[in-house]
Amino acid sequence: MRATLMYRAGDVRVENVPDSRIENPTDALVRITASCICGSDLHPYHSMTADEGPARMGHELIGVVEEVGTEVATLKRGDLVVSPFAISDNACEYCRENLQTSCSHHEAGFWDGLQNEGGQAEAVRVPLADGTLVKLPVAPDSALIPSLLTLADVLGTGYHAAKAAGVLPGQDVTVIGDGAVGLMAVLSAKRLGAERIVLMGRHTDRTDLGREFGATDVVAERGEEGIARVRELTGGQGTYAVLEAVGHMPAYEQAVGVVRPGGVISRVGVPQYEEAPIGFASLFRHNIRLAGGPAPVRAYIEELLPDILDGTIEPGKVFDTTTDLDGVPAGYRDMDERKSLKVLIKP
Ligand SMILES: [Zn+2]
Repeated sequence: MRATLMYRAGDVRVENVPDSRIENPTDALVRITASCICGSDLHPYHSMTADEGPARMGHELIGVVEEVGTEVATLKRGDLVVSPFAISDNACEYCRENLQTSCSHHEAGFWDGLQNEGGQAEAVRVPLADGTLVKLPVAPDSALIPSLLTLADVLGTGYHAAKAAGVLPGQDVTVIGDGAVGLMAVLSAKRLGAERIVLMGRHTDRTDLGREFGATDVVAERGEEGIARVRELTGGQGTYAVLEAVGHMPAYEQAVGVVRPGGVISRVGVPQYEEAPIGFASLFRHNIRLAGGPAPVRAYIEELLPDILDGTIEPGKVFDTTTDLDGVPAGYRDMDERKSLKVLIKP
């Protein structure tokens, strides 16, 4: 079968690899019908060394179950399923607390940590299939597939940003970042009833989509200028919730600059730093809390699915490009160069 491998920063190839197959009785073998490239795939695309590669890529997928292991109870051949970016048993203590990204099962983890599997491929072995996969009540060629695919990561991640911040109806929210996750954070804040949603981003095609998803204000300026602009828009106060969907230090600094006293900075942009200001001058002085982490998107699928099925939300609008597997290396390049917002893959 064919699959995407990253050899090092900037070097993505589609190659023939050994066919994925059932290895454990709790596995399912899934033929992938839709996948995509994630903004977080661009982190290794910038930084991976040759020693770290080649790595199989892709952690968002929809596909058809081809075969199940002897202990899989809830799935059968022919089911259309979506997989979150994390593998979980959906049964342990943490999973029952809706923290599936901390699942304690020894086979749990992230697709990105699995040696010989990945979503940007023709097929995949899904460990802990009963816990990880969620059945979709549509056909593989449904027009809803792009929106349903966002359940694998970006929608649930944006939603987690808003949930972890405790966004409540009537609150003001700032979203930092106009990538797919930032736009999903806007949509999520809107869904939770936020009144004013300030989107910080400077790509107008993206911020226009952000307005469609619910942003009431767009701030294109960055750094001190951007902070001043958000404060100006919010009577000098900043906003209660700040959803940070970038992951780099300047975005964190912006978050600290625009959060209101007593507010929450909720991070879902995978932090590319280990040290950041948390002391008196940044968080402590005004009782500001820091929240967020890898989104337990598995926890949100059942909650968000009905809104997609009935057309209340259309998160699939973040996909502006579709390609087959051959086009994946170019897809990485286009996303890196901001020519594409998010690339849908039809293997
Ligand atoms: Zn678990």
